Amino acid sequence: MDLILGSHNKGKLREYKALLADAPFTLRLLDEVGLAAFDVQETGETIEANALLKARAYANACHMPVLADDTGLEVDALDGGPGVYSARYGSSDRERCQRLLSELFNVPQEARSARFVCVIAVARPNNGQTITARGVVEGRIAFSMGQGSEGFGYDRIFIPDGYDVTWNAISLAEKNHISHRGRAARALLPLLSHF
Ligand code: IMP
Repeated sequence: MDLILGSHNKGKLREYKALLADAPFTLRLLDEVGLAAFDVQETGETIEANALLKARAYANACHMPVLADDTGLEVDALDGGPGVYSARYGSSDRERCQRLLSELFNVPQEARSARFVCVIAVARPNNGQTITARGVVEGRIAFSMGQGSEGFGYDRIFIPDGYDVTWNAISLAEKNHISHRGRAARALLPLLSHF
């Protein structure tokens, strides 16, 4: 089976290529099926709704099964925000991270707990069958941007539990081992064999 990765985010694509390297299907990119410029608005009210919305929209557009995810960063001191609005929290990764750091200015270490939640959805075309899987990783928001060149998005300000450094300072393999996306992908694989 060919499975299209429904994302234009290069950081996500790198992670999925490693996470799904041994899966029994051929991964293909949106560019390869003529959807390089096709974008989907995230208008859902939950992370799961957005994941399904993206997978269905891309699948209907390319007439092939599509895997898409939606991720939210839930910060306890912000009552779970930005959560489902994580992508809309600023106009660039740097701006989103800076906004979060300034909103948590004065919030002590013990109150900076946060988690990444990821829902992966796989959809067949023509509004066909869908499956979803979820993964969560707990951690906290750093006091400033971490040093490192790995990762993307909020990785430069997120410190996973058990670590003293932000996620942009650890390797892709190590991130995939513990991340929200890695956990969701491992939960998805057994479901995909019946898909
Ligand atoms: P979306 O799933 O692409 O809508 O992502 C929502 C927001 O979370 C975007 O700003 C992404 O850059 C960010 N994001 C998604 N996955 C990760 C991750 O694994 N690490 C850090 N930020 C992420």
